[in-house]
Amino acid sequence: MSRLTKRKVPRVLPGSLITLRRKCGKASCRCATGDPHESPALSYSVAGRTKMLTLRPEEVAEVARAVARYRMSVNDLAAEAQGELDEFVARVKASRASDRR
Ligand SMILES: [Zn+2]
Repeated sequence: MSRLTKRKVPRVLPGSLITLRRKCGKASCRCATGDPHESPALSYSVAGRTKMLTLRPEEVAEVARAVARYRMSVNDLAAEAQGELDEFVARVKASRASDRR
């Protein structure tokens, strides 16, 4: 069994898949003249601080899927909560209004 198949694949990940661009500092490197090194990374937040985890190529697809699933779940929950809030506010206001009659 390979290292990849043994690893647990995350279902949801809170964060963003980003591309880090950097210059390595070697004067002879292509990056010195404006073609920076690029590496995929997961940007995430811990206690309000942004952290970066650089990713291996074989990790990118699963991270992208987990980030997308997280975002979808959050959007679904936010939409459901907004609907509940609208209904609750309307119901409470209506009952307050009928109390005043
Ligand atoms: Zn370089």
